[in-house]
Amino acid sequence: MMRQAGAVVVGAGIAGVATGYDLAVVRGVEEVIVVDPRPPLSLTSDKSSECYRNFFPSKPMVDLTNRSIDILEALKEQSDDFFNMSRRGYLFVTGDPGQLAALTRAAETSSGFGAGPVRIAGTDVGVDEETGFDVYQTPEVLLGRFPYLSDEALGALHVRRGGWFSAQQLGAWMLEQARAHGAEVVVDEVVGIKTLRGRVAGALLKSGSRISTPAVVNAAGPMSKQLARLVGVELPLHASLHHKVSFRDHLGAFPREAPMLLWTDPVSIDWSEAERSALAAEGFEELLREITTPVFGRPEGGMDSPFFEALWNYRPDVRNEPTWPAPRADFMFPEAVLRGMAAMLPSLDRYRDQLPYSVVDGAYVMKTPENLPLIGPAGPEGFYLVTGMSGYGVMICTAAAELVGCHLLGSDLPGYADKFPLSRYEDPDYVATLDVVDTGELAKQGAKR
Ligand SMILES: Cc1cc2nc3c(=O)[nH]c(=O)nc-3n(C[C@H](O)[C@H](O)[C@H](O)COP(=O)(O)OP(=O)(O)OC[C@H]3O[C@@H](n4cnc5c(N)ncnc54)[C@H](O)[C@@H]3O)c2cc1C
Repeated sequence: MMRQAGAVVVGAGIAGVATGYDLAVVRGVEEVIVVDPRPPLSLTSDKSSECYRNFFPSKPMVDLTNRSIDILEALKEQSDDFFNMSRRGYLFVTGDPGQLAALTRAAETSSGFGAGPVRIAGTDVGVDEETGFDVYQTPEVLLGRFPYLSDEALGALHVRRGGWFSAQQLGAWMLEQARAHGAEVVVDEVVGIKTLRGRVAGALLKSGSRISTPAVVNAAGPMSKQLARLVGVELPLHASLHHKVSFRDHLGAFPREAPMLLWTDPVSIDWSEAERSALAAEGFEELLREITTPVFGRPEGGMDSPFFEALWNYRPDVRNEPTWPAPRADFMFPEAVLRGMAAMLPSLDRYRDQLPYSVVDGAYVMKTPENLPLIGPAGPEGFYLVTGMSGYGVMICTAAAELVGCHLLGSDLPGYADKFPLSRYEDPDYVATLDVVDTGELAKQGAKR
């Protein structure tokens, strides 16, 4: 059976759903078809911690996240806050003066790229400040404002243009709008892409169906390398596995009013001698050493919800291609994360003898070498990428989708558009800079010393 489509979007993760929305609703493309064998948002996008920020060490990412947040804020208005967008910010906390100086420098760099002003926080710090950065330089001011932090904390950086929202609900809302504008989700898998004289002509589905279309968008997340190979394009992506744990906080130990909290200093967990021996016997050497990747977490749900979630990538798993099923987190993950978070939030020690109920999930995020996404045309005419969404795919989804839409319709492109296409790797000068760029990865470090 042959169908017609204005565009086929491959993948119904947050990148594909946002692209389907942009094409069908914003740009009025007729008969947009989003193809996915899985339920929408169920592979990676529902595993996210769903946070957003405009704090990045490069101008293209500050521009892209600023634009994405602008669009998200407009959608928040339009949808009557259907996806519960908060503006609590990210608080990077430290007990080390050198790290505080590095965080301040990182904020100044980001500020120079347009992320908003850097302010020194005094006792009169504006609770409702919505942009820029507040630097807390003394424990008195910091603990006066965030009394639940450890008294090891001596300073912090509060990123104000940040927070979190429900990616699932945003996706559901965008899909509903897209469907109302004629878009369709087809439960199937794209297994072939037909080209004619160097142009995309159609997509072949696993069921045997064919779709005649002038445009195919690769939003296939962890499978986007395989999808690109269907048109002879090789993507410089690797897969990084990340896990998250959600706790039911029955003792009310996590402050409900907190922003996203990140402890940026190395942590050595104070295991007992018996625990140390048991961990060594089970092969958990990394948990016995100082761990330098930041541990972070935030409250989940409303003020009366008992849940919080936390992440700590203490066992990095990076591979060239994802393998399936994605490996599960080790069985120590909830306890290690909770003990790590207690370095910043001593109230979590209440769970030292008995862990609360928890749920762990995880997924691969796809990254380029310099941790910038791949957005724009590639390979045959009519083939587009919106992938390499790294640990920030949820927060950039709207601006990334807008960029694909502009490319696809030939509309005016924003100034940052040329930073994201695959063609950037054709420039030898650009490639030569790749091993020295600051990738801005949250899981690695809060700032650079
Ligand atoms: C633990 C964790 C925490 C994170 N925290 C954050 C955060 O706080 N903020 C943030 O912004 N981001 C965060 N991320 C990253 C974010 O979740 C990802 O960047 C984003 O979900 C990627 O979306 P995607 O649409 O590219 O991929 P996916 O959600 O994986 O969607 C890709 C879809 O493509 C489909 N597909 C693949 N091949 C085909 C084919 N041939 N035919 C049809 N369909 C196909 C798949 O079935 C899948 O549904 C986090 C990720 C993890 C794992």
